[in-house]
Amino acid sequence: MVDRVTADVGIIGSGVVGASTALALARAGRRVVVLDKAAGPGYGSTSASSAIIRFNYSTWEGVAASWESRFRWDAWADVLGGVDPDGMATFARCGMVFLDVPLAPWERSAALFDRAGIPWERWEPDELASRMPWLDTGAYYPPRPVESEEFAADATGSLGAIWTPDAGYVDDPRLAAANLAWAARQAGAEFRYREKVTGISRAGERWVVRTGEHTAYELDVLINAAGPWSSAVNELCGAATDFTIGTRPLRQEVHHLPGPAGVERGTLPIISDMDLGTYVRPEPTGAILIGGTEPECDPLEWVDDPDAANPGVTLERYEAQATRVARRLPTLTVPNRPSGIAGIYDAADDWTPIYDRTALPGYYVAMGTSGNQFKNAPLVGDLMSTIIAGVESGHDHDADPLTYTCPHTGHVLDLGAFSRRRQPNPDTSGTVMG
Ligand SMILES: Cc1cc2nc3c(=O)[nH]c(=O)nc-3n(C[C@H](O)[C@H](O)[C@H](O)COP(=O)(O)OP(=O)(O)OC[C@H]3O[C@@H](n4cnc5c(N)ncnc54)[C@H](O)[C@@H]3O)c2cc1C
Repeated sequence: MVDRVTADVGIIGSGVVGASTALALARAGRRVVVLDKAAGPGYGSTSASSAIIRFNYSTWEGVAASWESRFRWDAWADVLGGVDPDGMATFARCGMVFLDVPLAPWERSAALFDRAGIPWERWEPDELASRMPWLDTGAYYPPRPVESEEFAADATGSLGAIWTPDAGYVDDPRLAAANLAWAARQAGAEFRYREKVTGISRAGERWVVRTGEHTAYELDVLINAAGPWSSAVNELCGAATDFTIGTRPLRQEVHHLPGPAGVERGTLPIISDMDLGTYVRPEPTGAILIGGTEPECDPLEWVDDPDAANPGVTLERYEAQATRVARRLPTLTVPNRPSGIAGIYDAADDWTPIYDRTALPGYYVAMGTSGNQFKNAPLVGDLMSTIIAGVESGHDHDADPLTYTCPHTGHVLDLGAFSRRRQPNPDTSGTVMG
């Protein structure tokens, strides 16, 4: 006996992206069911996110989307249409200092910031040093293995930076996904947990999604928002045959350390340090969280199956990241034992997400989020809703890409920038920075 459930739209994944998409489509009047193999919303890569909200991207669409999204994080209850009784994620504005690096020239960021209307300042090396006296402003590029002699070499110059005062972070990324799921439920969406999608097939005009032997979901539209598992989900129905952009799960570690001595609590900004290959994010407690920016000298940990990846932090990764950060923040004390979490990026070839239709009728993807799309999640639902409404009413989004006008900023996004069939973004930094 098979239990048959019908809905207009099925979404695979209730991370921050799937939940945002559910909210937008439920508000558009669709009957939405979200399926997730985990026990609740945001338990996938969302829960490991550093949740940094920044605006430095290599493309106009990346910059404009992140700037629009920032206003949504700032008015979270308005976005949700109320206050989630189980708690609300909050945005902390702390600013971000983006240290100079040849891979992402500051002049290009500045031009994109001006176009978007994002406040920024240029800090030449002397100004950076006087504003942040606790920071080593030495230029060491390119990053070197921390155990190599070259790593210990003297600086070759001094770094300046670009400062964006409106950057910040969300204090609890899993809760943010739960908030979006709560709002989507208020709008009528249904969320079903511990439902692992194991089969996808076509019956007439509809998709049939199987979660085990006893349940089948019949759907007009199906959306893959399965995060690092998205390629595996595509394989269930052969959806990726015409993609020009590949995606792969990439394991990452984020470590927690006590904050550096001599930096007044609440004054540490986010530091993007591609010169040494790391980033630093303050915690509300005064501690810091550190991650990597894929320095070329360190091996990338590609994984075939995200579920088989080591979920714990390793001494090797910890030492690499903490040693680099300790060079930049010389008053940092590095505990012997690592603490932190491992997470998985759904890394696209050009580090730009794929929000698109596919060659299969009624099958859409919100994937390839490349370690940098938490910040855009409140907007992604609207982007997917725009694409789905257009394509389902007959628009050829491949030949004539749809656009989205951001309500807050008025900026127009060419949604072809997120196409599965795009030419890879030539300006990408080749890292999580996009
Ligand atoms: C360590 C780390 C740090 C990051 N830092 C930042 C940052 O600072 N700023 C930023 O903007 N972004 C950051 N990101 C990226 C950001 O967190 C992700 O882009 C975002 O969370 C992806 O959300 P998602 O909903 O697409 O994926 P997920 O949260 O992974 O959700 C996918 C869901 O799909 C479900 N699923 C998968 N397969 C199936 C199946 N077969 N059946 C049913 N359910 C299934 C999973 O259980 C999961 O809940 C970071 C990511 C990581 C890993």
